[in-house]
Formats: sequence, structure tokens, C-alpha cells
Amino acid sequence: MKKHNFYAGPSILSEYTLNKTAEAIKDFAGTGLSILEISHRSKEFTAVMDEAEQLFKELLDIPEGYKVLFVGGGASTQFCMVPYNLLKTKAAYLDTGTWANKAIKEAKLFGEVDVVASSKADNYTYVPKDYVVPADADYFHITTNNTIYGTEIRKDLDVSVPLVADMSSDIFSRPIDVSKYDVIYGGAQKNLAPAGVTFVIVKEDALGKVDRAIPTMLNYKTHADKGSMFNTPPVLPIYSAVQTLRWYKELGGVKKLEEMDMAKAAKLYDAIDSSKIFVGTANEEDRSIMNVCFVMKPEYAELEKDFNEFASSKGIMGIKGHRSVGGFRASLYNALPMESVDVLIAAMKEFEKNH
Ligand SMILES: *Cc1c(COP(=O)(O)O)cnc(C)c1O
Repeated sequence: MKKHNFYAGPSILSEYTLNKTAEAIKDFAGTGLSILEISHRSKEFTAVMDEAEQLFKELLDIPEGYKVLFVGGGASTQFCMVPYNLLKTKAAYLDTGTWANKAIKEAKLFGEVDVVASSKADNYTYVPKDYVVPADADYFHITTNNTIYGTEIRKDLDVSVPLVADMSSDIFSRPIDVSKYDVIYGGAQKNLAPAGVTFVIVKEDALGKVDRAIPTMLNYKTHADKGSMFNTPPVLPIYSAVQTLRWYKELGGVKKLEEMDMAKAAKLYDAIDSSKIFVGTANEEDRSIMNVCFVMKPEYAELEKDFNEFASSKGIMGIKGHRSVGGFRASLYNALPMESVDVLIAAMKEFEKNH
């Protein structure tokens, strides 16, 4: 049976990415060796690293003065690298969920943290909009897509201080104005590549402004100066990322990806909104187009487990909500085809009819 992969991360990759990666595991760039067993300093791999940076710049229209880094440690390591490298006295953070909280916790190790607003009291069902970012903050940190709660900030905010954004789960789902940000980072395993590589888009001017000593591996400058080759980079995930980026380019770039993502999300939200037994959890205007969160209406709550089993029987994988939220979460990343959304909607309708 065909499987429909709605996992939140690691998550679906395109056939293109999987096939090209599998080929390179057997024979990389005609070397007769596997990409798993060749030097990262070989000319064949250096070309991959160059292409990764170049495709990021092209697809996201990244202006001059920015570097794109590929490092290990996941987005979670960026929670500390950002303040390590950028926080002088005070930083502002927006608390929109679990990941934002983890970022806030790390920043507090480095200075004053002003949490300008939080939607915690409402179980993070919306993105706060009424807040003031202090003009003397070194930066304002946001999580553009709240993977666990299914809310999203789908525009580049206008604030008087530099923005820093965790875009782990919505990078390449819309055009962004990179010039508004000092740092954009994310783990690759949501919308780009297998787990193991973290991308960091960093403005060169933002670096070198803090007085503290920064451990070599946690210093952005180390990686920026060496083209992400200071130490052995996560070779295989970077190779896969390049394949995904080539595929994105072939499809027509981020504007086209956004159109496709919006169409998938609109269809699923419509089905949820017109359902008698399911209901969405996120505030309508803040709904994520990447992670669609929904639950059973209270009077049907006991059917949750049944629906999970029913969905599995249809080849629908990974729709169980995050353990901290419950219910269901359908992740609609770029590589997920509309066909899978149609299968999920059909299953929801059939289940509703049976109950
Ligand atoms: C998954 C996720 C993370 C954590 O990423 P790791 O690479 O596992 O550290 C952080 N932020 C967001 C928004 C995420 O979706």
C-alpha cells in the first residue's frame, strides 16, 4: 500500500532527493566511491558545498553581506549560538511555543531576556501581536512556524531592531526579505534534508560585536571564514539538501512552492472546518500552512485512537499530534503531494460517515 507521510520531522523528502542520495551513496559524482567514504575536501564535495550556498542565495534572494553556513548540532544548538554571538546586554523574544521557550532558556545564560509577549496562557493557540520590542534590544527572536502548535508568522515583521528567526519548519515555504534579519536558522529535517545539518543565514556585519570569548565551534565566524569547512561538515545531509534545492528550483522556486503549500493547507483546513467531528486548534488568522493541528470535538473525544488506527489502515502515517498537545497534526511540507492531502481528507470523511 502507498504510504502518505505526514510526519512533523524528520519528514517526507521528495523522490528526487531520495533517488539522487541513494545513487551518491553507491557512486558519488563518478568517483567510483560512496559519498560516505570520500574526503570532504575532495573537489567533488567542495563543489557540493559551493552549490548548497549558491542555491540558498538564489532561491531565497539573499542579498550581499550574508553567509550561509551548514553546521551540526540541530536548531537546538542555535538556541545558544545566537545569544553567544549576538547578545551584548539584552535580547527580546516572542514566546509562541515549546521551541521559542527553549530558545529563551538558553538566551538567559548570556544576558537579560525581555519576553515581549506570550500566548502560553491560551496553550499557544495564537501568535501575540500586541507588544513593544524595546529599542535597546540587541535583537528580537521569533519562531516563524510553531511546529507543535500549528501557528505561523507568515510575514517579515517590521521592528526597530534586527530580527533573528528560527525557520526550522517553514523555510522555503514563502519568499522572505532576508535583509530584515541578522540570523535565520533551522534544522534541515523538516523541509530540506535528512537530520544532521543545520543551516544558518547570517549577516556578516552582525558578527564580532560581543566582548565575550566564544568557543571555536560555537563561533559563527569560525564557520563563516572557512566556508563551513572548519571541521568535517555533515556531508550526506548537505548532499541531500542540494538535491532538494535543485528540485525546488526546477519546480519554479519559493513563490511556486508557496502556492502549492497554500493550496494543500486551504483544502485540509476547509475539510476540518466543515467537519462535524474534527475541529482545528489554532486561531484562524495564525494557522500554519506547514503543520495543521486538529482534535476531535469534545463529544467525539473517545474516537481519537480509532481514527489514528483507521488512518494507518489507509496508509496515512505520522498524524498523531505532538505528545504535549495530543490530537492530530498533519505536516504538509513541500515534498508532500496534494494526493496525500486528498487521501487524508477522504479518510476523515469516511470516518465521519461511519460515526
Ligand atoms: C524541530 C524544531 C526545532 C528543533 O530542531 P533540532 O534540529 O532537533 O534541534 C527547533 N525549532 C523548530 C521550530 C522546530 O520545528
